[in-house]
Amino acid sequence: MAELEGPEFGKADFVLLDEVTMEQFLQNLRLRFLQGRIYTYIGEVVVAVNPYRALALYGPPAVEHYRGRELYERPPHLFALADAAYKAMKRRAKDTCIVISGESGAGKTEASKYIMQYIAAITNPSQRAEVERVKNVLLKSNCVLEAFGNAKTNRNDNSSRFGKYMDINFDFKGDPTGGHIHNYLLEKSRVLQQQPGERNFHAFYQLLLGAPAALLASLHLCRDPGTYRYTQEGTPGSACGDDAAGYRAVEEAMSIIGFSQEEMGSVRRILAAILHLGNIGFMAEGEVAAVEDMAQLPVLAELVATAPENLHRALLTRTVAAGGGELIEKGHSPKEAAYARDACAKAIYERLFCWIVGRINAGIATHGYDARLHGKSTVIGVLDIYGFEIFDTNSFEQFCINYCNEKLQQLFIELILRQEQAEYQREGITWQSIEYFSNEPIVELVEQPHRGILALLDEACLAAGTVTDSLFLASMDTRLGCHPHYTSRKLCPTDKTMEFNRDFRIKHYAGDVTYSVEGFLDKNKDTLFQDFKRLLYNSTDPVLRAMWPDGEQSITEVTKRPLTTGTLFKNSIVALVENLASKEPYYVRCIKPNDQKSPTLFDEERCRHQVSYLGLLENVRVRRAGFAYRQPYHRFLLRYKMTCEYTWPNHLMASDREATQALLEQHGFQDDVAYGHTKVFIRTPRTLFCLEQERTQ
Ligand code: ATP
Ligand code: MG
Repeated sequence: MAELEGPEFGKADFVLLDEVTMEQFLQNLRLRFLQGRIYTYIGEVVVAVNPYRALALYGPPAVEHYRGRELYERPPHLFALADAAYKAMKRRAKDTCIVISGESGAGKTEASKYIMQYIAAITNPSQRAEVERVKNVLLKSNCVLEAFGNAKTNRNDNSSRFGKYMDINFDFKGDPTGGHIHNYLLEKSRVLQQQPGERNFHAFYQLLLGAPAALLASLHLCRDPGTYRYTQEGTPGSACGDDAAGYRAVEEAMSIIGFSQEEMGSVRRILAAILHLGNIGFMAEGEVAAVEDMAQLPVLAELVATAPENLHRALLTRTVAAGGGELIEKGHSPKEAAYARDACAKAIYERLFCWIVGRINAGIATHGYDARLHGKSTVIGVLDIYGFEIFDTNSFEQFCINYCNEKLQQLFIELILRQEQAEYQREGITWQSIEYFSNEPIVELVEQPHRGILALLDEACLAAGTVTDSLFLASMDTRLGCHPHYTSRKLCPTDKTMEFNRDFRIKHYAGDVTYSVEGFLDKNKDTLFQDFKRLLYNSTDPVLRAMWPDGEQSITEVTKRPLTTGTLFKNSIVALVENLASKEPYYVRCIKPNDQKSPTLFDEERCRHQVSYLGLLENVRVRRAGFAYRQPYHRFLLRYKMTCEYTWPNHLMASDREATQALLEQHGFQDDVAYGHTKVFIRTPRTLFCLEQERTQ
């Protein structure tokens, strides 16, 4: 337990509170936040409050201060946690992961960057060129991914609109040799539309405001984001830093990562194409749609490197399979054409994003690693995913994001609270059970096969054509009406905060969220006509073409029922949780001190709420009652038997347990330990620290 700071700084570990109450917890958190001591431990968990100001906590002196130290030797810090994960990986060859959680704007992405920065700073002392290159790619990838995957929302000016899990691979020397980024469901509907005050992805503004005039002219763009339908919203006076500087930083980062000039040119053309595509309007010509301004087509065709007539056809018609394998071309109505255009814009952006991630991964892939030559490769994973969020209007995307946060919370409860208690019980250690809130029913409400919301949504999508969003809502009302975490206006007619036939509400672990069912079916089905895929697959731009391997299929070959967005997302999150659960976890729990982005305001109610739903008090209680360290008796003796005359070189006692007891008593640690059936439990890390010192003397 960290006690290195004076009492005027509050407790460095919440375990040291006089009493574990919400009031004391908040008081300690506030005191430390106001002094710029934004990190506090609960054992090995770091609780971090967003300071909303630059603190001099992360420079090279800080790195030196924490390098190779034990957690409790220095004041709490992300660097200490990163070092602990690194040591576990290096000394014990454990795969570890650092899970960063907290709501939108709490500081997860910043924390993940500091952690990576620390790992980069302490590795590769011999300056091997290939390791330096890998480190650079890993570090620079953040800048590129944020440009394309982050946006200003009403919660956070730089909000991650995708989930990111990055594995860093290390060789036997403990140097990074490669890595892999997994990305999770990008909020692509943002390409088309943003809520008032929000923005599209940064990349669009960076291009418009940062590209040199000649380049912009070659893309047929003008500087003003207000010119383009997709970037009209929220541009003036946005507090997103300097987009022009962002443009230059991204260009530089992309070249360091290894994107070629041609590839970067393609990326810019694709962004420009999306902006132009958004401005194409349709009118009715008899029954079918026609393009309002034909002069726009050659520009767009040039950007996506296709023939204008093919583009024209893909915008206005779709190919359908008639009986007998015959293909016919069917004209869109103006409404259908606009829908298809938007679906295409979203899809292009999403595939561009995934292509960028794939391209970064290719640059840091570890396929050259030969385990026979270099020993086992170990991994540190860093998870930074979109935080729990509640907006004025919440749609399918918020539903997915919040479900993902439920899963991570479940994992936290599972690992930190439940497993801990289960182990004490198993080992017969006297233990008073601690009550904690289990969010399992909420997770089940969403993901249960056949009965959960995602299953009902898929069912509704299968029956498409006849089923509407409001019918889907009705089916949830019927089938989930009794669920304690589900309600809707129909089930609760007096609740005027919800609308009939449109809203449903889930009682999440972090609060109640009202979702509008509008667009759920559509977003879940995520239809994109094969005509667009084929069009882009036939582009002569190699980058664009590579993004559409499925464009090769003819309409008759296309799988009839591809997996839905919801199901794909669920599968990816389930796999993520399994992966995390297989590693030794380290946790950062981020707290947002206020909604005003103020460096001085500690909004007690907001913090109380977060401390409560993150389960931090329960965490302290389990930790306080618990033991920091445990080891099977024989392993413990192997390491420490030389520190005691009764056990060195071998003990003559009846059992390893008795020998362990003799050893610990000789050192005077008997009050700090408990003896389980198979393991010894040590309460404070300091005891272990002393034992380690004895060993080396
Ligand atoms: P989201 O879930 O929306 O992606 P997030 O938890 O990733 O949110 P961040 O983007 O990391 O939130 O943080 C929001 C903002 O808070 C940052 O842009 C930065 O201005 C500020 N901030 C966060 N952490 C720190 C820090 N350690 N030092 C200084 N400022 C910080
Ligand atoms: Mg983020």
